[in-house]
Amino acid sequence: MAGVVTRFAPSPTGPLHLGHAYAAIVAHDMARAAGGRFLLRIEDIDQTRCRPAWEAQIYDDLQWLGLSWEEPVMRQSDRLPTYQAALDALWARGVLYPCTCSRRDIEAALSAPQEGVPIAMGPDGPVYPGTCRHHARVGVRPADAVLRLDIAAALAQADGPFTFVETGASHLGTIGTTGRHYTGHIGDIVLSRRDMGTSYHLSVVLDDAAQGVTHVTRGEDLFDATRIHVLLQRLLGLPTPVYHHHRLIRDDHGKRLAKRDDARALAKYRAEGASPADIRRMVGL
Ligand code: GLU
Repeated sequence: MAGVVTRFAPSPTGPLHLGHAYAAIVAHDMARAAGGRFLLRIEDIDQTRCRPAWEAQIYDDLQWLGLSWEEPVMRQSDRLPTYQAALDALWARGVLYPCTCSRRDIEAALSAPQEGVPIAMGPDGPVYPGTCRHHARVGVRPADAVLRLDIAAALAQADGPFTFVETGASHLGTIGTTGRHYTGHIGDIVLSRRDMGTSYHLSVVLDDAAQGVTHVTRGEDLFDATRIHVLLQRLLGLPTPVYHHHRLIRDDHGKRLAKRDDARALAKYRAEGASPADIRRMVGL
């Protein structure tokens, strides 16, 4: 399996904690065990939350952990023209529409008509009710607008089956997603956010393909988002990597670690004298 390419893709919005260390080590060790390549990608599209100091700290922490990666490191903030080109192509195919709904508009639309019917929750929150789906899709793509993917139109244009191979323990096997699941449980997701010119879903799919990633390793919390990524890959003519969704590192109360859990920051353990081997043990490796 010398052709194996994995990646770790942190966002520089805070210190790396034990959960990041685990994700990075899983990706790194999978590549090393296969004699493959381990890549790094800085997911810094949200410029309001990303800081250069956090990026510098990421390199420092990963080095300290004993991980090495190929240069150059990909940074999403360098790739905005690629994201724009993909959005232009999708716009020309009529599968995107501008959305002007606020979060409150969406909540109101969802709670109004069918009382008692539970609201379907998708990977990005409540399934969008389609309020703006009738918006015109002609002419030049509106800049600086929220653009949603018309999921039904996307399904009609993309070749199925929408399957991927999962090697993580909790969903092991070939995972398929039906058209009904896409429309009912995912819905018209946002592909371009205002002031960002892209979204996590669009960028991650384009970047994994551009980096030639063959095995995506990441937390279990992103399992359902992978269904979106597979549809985007089919729509954009990109290969689908193998996916390995791994367990999440939790705190003593069973809650998954978040960026704000600075108490579990790697830098703090380092300062207290922990070794990289201690960190591996702490995350159960
Ligand atoms: N930047 C994302 C995160 O920090 C990466 C997700 C992924 O690996 O696709 O969760």
